[in-house]
Amino acid sequence: LTSGLESAWNKLKGEEVLTKENIVEPMRDIRRALLEADVSLPVVRRFVQAVSEQAVGVGVIRGVKPDQQLVKIVSDELVKLMGGEVSELTFAKSPPTVILLAGLQGVGKTTVSAKLALYLKKQGKSCMLIAGDVYRPAAIDQLVILGKQVDVPVYTAGTDVKPAEIARQGLQEAKKKNVDVVIMDTAGRLQIDKTMMDELKDVKRTLNPTEVLLVVDAMTGQEAAALVTTFNVEIGITGAILTKLDGDSRGGAALSVKEVSGKPIKLVGRGERMEDLEPFYPDRMAGRILGMGDVLSFVEKAQEVMKQEDAEDLQQKIMSAKFDFNDFLKQTRAVAQMGSMSRVLGMIPGMGKVTPAQIREAEKSLQIMEAMIEVMTPEEREKPELLAESPARRKRIAKESGKTEQQVSQLVAQLFQMRVRMKNLMGVMQGGSVPALSN
Ligand code: GDP
Ligand code: MG
Repeated sequence: LTSGLESAWNKLKGEEVLTKENIVEPMRDIRRALLEADVSLPVVRRFVQAVSEQAVGVGVIRGVKPDQQLVKIVSDELVKLMGGEVSELTFAKSPPTVILLAGLQGVGKTTVSAKLALYLKKQGKSCMLIAGDVYRPAAIDQLVILGKQVDVPVYTAGTDVKPAEIARQGLQEAKKKNVDVVIMDTAGRLQIDKTMMDELKDVKRTLNPTEVLLVVDAMTGQEAAALVTTFNVEIGITGAILTKLDGDSRGGAALSVKEVSGKPIKLVGRGERMEDLEPFYPDRMAGRILGMGDVLSFVEKAQEVMKQEDAEDLQQKIMSAKFDFNDFLKQTRAVAQMGSMSRVLGMIPGMGKVTPAQIREAEKSLQIMEAMIEVMTPEEREKPELLAESPARRKRIAKESGKTEQQVSQLVAQLFQMRVRMKNLMGVMQGGSVPALSN
């Protein structure tokens, strides 16, 4: 762990043991570090919760300081989240082993196909590539060129043949040639669509692959969770390959893959050269993710750990319009945690279909709101009216959270709107009618 989180650990210096209270601030920093590393929100929440629970239960270990303990728990938990150990590729009992690559356009599938062939060749395996991207003639040429570069045969059938048919022919050819591993490159789209999924399903049915690897660009960020989920549910993946780790991405996508699909990242691409493919080491990735968190500004005041109120109480509050910032926070978090903001938003009449960009936007504004709520005093959280009435308080919150006064005013206004909207939403979710409300 690098300097990014040192201030968090420093707060624990002099403490005897990890407690529910003294881990609040370090956990907040960890949370922020993960969000800055583009780990998706629901994953961050589960992670922080898991670490907090463990930390409090850990007790005193003689000779180990609490800050060291917390560092260890966090990094162990990160490693665990990413699958723990290096996950090797699986090979078929009787060759050929078939590897199907899938993923969005431009993530590096074609490059990875050739890289992977070289990688396996170095392990003494004979390989063959199948050019399955029928949408761009250039993609076939690209694979042929890369195949030459790594000296691996490429099966092509042009762009007029269906991918599943190309797969069938290619596989036949591979069997004839007695190659150990067949790798099939496929087309990607900018966004997931049904045709793409149907085609992949056909190809998968034809090939009966040993490995179905989802190629994910490390820059994917917050959308990684949804992307991986969709491919896993639709196609069924056996693992993932994370590309472009040589860029300045913080690699947060790595955390989401295993967490949402249960499937490990097996390999990573770290450059455009054919040699730039290597196994995925969860421990190194943990270091990268944590190390990237900028020096995190500390919230000055210690704040009490929010007590978990039961849902009934919350509902009561919503219905009686006593909904405060604590509830606001809890509720927005709960919504995010469902990992289906789109579904919930979709329930609000007039919202229509929600795009990934909108979800991203919503998650981003959620982060901004949280930063402001975090610096409120308990009293302010409970009585939003205090903030509505006092520009000085709003000014202070702006200053401490690093947001503008306008953003604070917006948040306060939003809470009052939210009271109304939450009440409506509850009505919709319960299938009831939406009552006309006065604020
Ligand atoms: P595809 O559309 O998924 O087949 O993606 P391509 O294999 O054509 O790759 C798209 C671009 O990303 C190309 O310019 C590649 O050179 C580049 N690329 C692929 N993998 C990596 C990587 O690990 N690091 C870097 N820096 N660039 C990569
Ligand atoms: Mg391609």
